[in-house]
Amino acid sequence: MNAQTQNLSAAARMPPSRRVGLDRLTIQNEKLRATQRRFAYPTVLLPTLGLAIAAVEVAAGLVGAMEVTLALAMYAVTMLGNTVGLHRHLTHRAFSAHPWVRAVLAVLGSMTAQGPVINWVANHRRHHGNSDQPGDPHSPYVNQGGPSGGWRGFWHAHFEWMFDGEITNAVLFAKDLLRDPVIVRINRQYLFWVTLGLVLPAVIGGWWAGSWFGAFQGFLWGGLVRVAMNQHAAWSISSFAHLFGSRPYDTGAHEQSRNLALLALPILGEGWHNNHHAFPNCAVVGFEWWQVDPSAWLIRLLERCGLVWDVKGVPPAELRRQKLRRPAGARA
Ligand SMILES: [Zn+2]
Ligand SMILES: [Zn+2]
Repeated sequence: MNAQTQNLSAAARMPPSRRVGLDRLTIQNEKLRATQRRFAYPTVLLPTLGLAIAAVEVAAGLVGAMEVTLALAMYAVTMLGNTVGLHRHLTHRAFSAHPWVRAVLAVLGSMTAQGPVINWVANHRRHHGNSDQPGDPHSPYVNQGGPSGGWRGFWHAHFEWMFDGEITNAVLFAKDLLRDPVIVRINRQYLFWVTLGLVLPAVIGGWWAGSWFGAFQGFLWGGLVRVAMNQHAAWSISSFAHLFGSRPYDTGAHEQSRNLALLALPILGEGWHNNHHAFPNCAVVGFEWWQVDPSAWLIRLLERCGLVWDVKGVPPAELRRQKLRRPAGARA
């Protein structure tokens, strides 16, 4: 096995709880935790309110091509910021990127309203280092160190975990990003980027329809409804893709990541979550020709344009064979 394949199969440099101690994984500061909890309410409730208004509009027949186009286009662009930028590039270093590509992806990912970029990365690295064990911020099986499960576990993993107010120790999990002044600035300007993600479709909607109602529709469909879609898409990976689906790769008995084909296209390739846990540092998550992975298509396109490089592609067949799960009793 050469150095590159070793790198692909290694869990990204994420400290597991058994090495660092659970109490160091999060910041023990009650004031900060209370602020975090307060932020969780508008983060969840405002897009939900947008969904409720959108449902009334659908019933009243007020929705046309502009609303659908803005919602889907804004969803695709910002979700790619999340999957390609926050996830595959910044969290897992699955490829290197030109500085402005890195910045644009971080900004687009911030528009999905899932927390400032460094918090997002720190949380996700903590998830990989402690998957479905105490220390995992959003496991359907573990809640604040104790066992969970059933619907309670599902909702905890989907979004309720944010109301725990836990703040992942970014010095421990995202020191590399804390040293990057551009990323630190984008992190600090988080609320600005979220607001821009709401204002931009409002401006386009106003221009498209030539009216203030058009601007409102743009804000609602390209803004709030789109954020709700972003959030439920990303949260579904923590809930559905750790509960339902297949586990072709052996990622250890302690964790339950799964491939869920239904989620693959809507979440731009992230539904192949067991593949991802088996080879977390790969830029490509769909390993088979039929495993659609639109995020990888964008990475390959950027690579052809010379804007990203060192792309860690599909792991070599031999390495994947070694990781395949074997029936009980079969010889390794
Ligand atoms: Zn996972
Ligand atoms: Zn990941």
